[in-house]
Amino acid sequence: MEKRVGIYIHVPFCASKCAYCNFYSIAGGDKLMPAYNDAILKHIEEYSAQLDGFVIDTVYFGGGTPGYFGANRLIGIFNELKKHGHVLLDSEVTAEINPGGISKEELLKLKRAGFNRLSIGVQCANDSMLKSLGRTHTFADAEETVSLARQAGFENISVDIIYGLPSQDKEGWAETIAKTAALKAEHISCYGLKIEEGTQLHIFKDSPFLPDDDVQADMYLYAVEMLARFGYRQYEISNFARRGFESKHNLKYWLGKEYIGFGPAAHSYVGKCRYSFIENIEKYIERVSTGQVVVEHSEEMSDFENAGEYLMLRLRTTHGISEEEYYNIYRLKMDYVLELLKRYEQSGWALFKDGRWRFTPNGFLLSSTLIGELLEAQNKQRTQISKPWQTDLPEEELQMTLFTNKRPLQSGLFGGRRLVGSQDLL
Ligand code: SF4
Repeated sequence: MEKRVGIYIHVPFCASKCAYCNFYSIAGGDKLMPAYNDAILKHIEEYSAQLDGFVIDTVYFGGGTPGYFGANRLIGIFNELKKHGHVLLDSEVTAEINPGGISKEELLKLKRAGFNRLSIGVQCANDSMLKSLGRTHTFADAEETVSLARQAGFENISVDIIYGLPSQDKEGWAETIAKTAALKAEHISCYGLKIEEGTQLHIFKDSPFLPDDDVQADMYLYAVEMLARFGYRQYEISNFARRGFESKHNLKYWLGKEYIGFGPAAHSYVGKCRYSFIENIEKYIERVSTGQVVVEHSEEMSDFENAGEYLMLRLRTTHGISEEEYYNIYRLKMDYVLELLKRYEQSGWALFKDGRWRFTPNGFLLSSTLIGELLEAQNKQRTQISKPWQTDLPEEELQMTLFTNKRPLQSGLFGGRRLVGSQDLL
């Protein structure tokens, strides 16, 4: 069976820094772009041997603002991946862009090169709020960019919106949802504002202009209900899609699948190892170009930790978890976890359907706390098992997932490389 992997490329450049942003991104660093481009290309080439063991079925350019980096550079990096990795022709290939930040010509170039999904940072329908957040676009720019993307042939568009913004009331949020739905994107990500330390918004942490927790909760529940009416099915805490347009790349994170990241602060999960690269673009460039180590953190995941991640990550999705699946993969019972889930069910936070447990929207609101309790319950269970990790079958064969990757390969590969020993691909 071929091993599949998703590739994440971090592009940390932005036109300006948004007031709420705590991603690793820099504004005013344009002069570093050529050197950064060279470093990424070199890094991919160096990873050639590791990439050789995988078939790549998703590629995600995130940031930062990949669109600001320029279509030519993104295409150059994608071509390098095609050269050194086995990239499936029908891979999901996403670029994050900002409204008003990319021309139709560039969108056409991306489309022709094999990019087939765009993630657009719309954030809000209110222009004065966008301005106060440090966004450099209006909602009309978002409408224009979606229109240009359609003209360029993109049939899979995602938009991001944020609730809980300073001075945003429920009516304002309702307006953002209605106007966003009118964009007719295939996918909507809907995030609650978090005031993080180190961001410009942090000084407003206790400001009365911020919607309180109850109002934020109402906004979230309203979004879940309204987006369903507009045809967007919730499949993860913050993500909604028309059927068949769930993000294949992001599902890799939530379903515990493997992914390899490139760029400063990029994370990877391969084999049983999680690692991340240094969160500093200058150091990243210098170390890659001089052949030094760029890994800043790494950890080998134990089987028990992986079992915990199963609970933690899959309960983010509406696919949820199953006792049978959990036992088949980890040879571990979940009696204590089930006890808790039944209590959550009585409180309206969880539901059991078709053999699987999942959180309700009210449960998603409390998911950090609930998952913490479930992990404690799982820890308690661990002591009851004598040989928890024995299994005769490979994990891939045991997993039954909603968003399965089990279909046989139907498409060929981009360009150059062939997967040695796999007849499926020929
Ligand atoms: S465009 Fe995105 S990554 Fe860049 S500063 Fe704004 S929120 Fe952060």
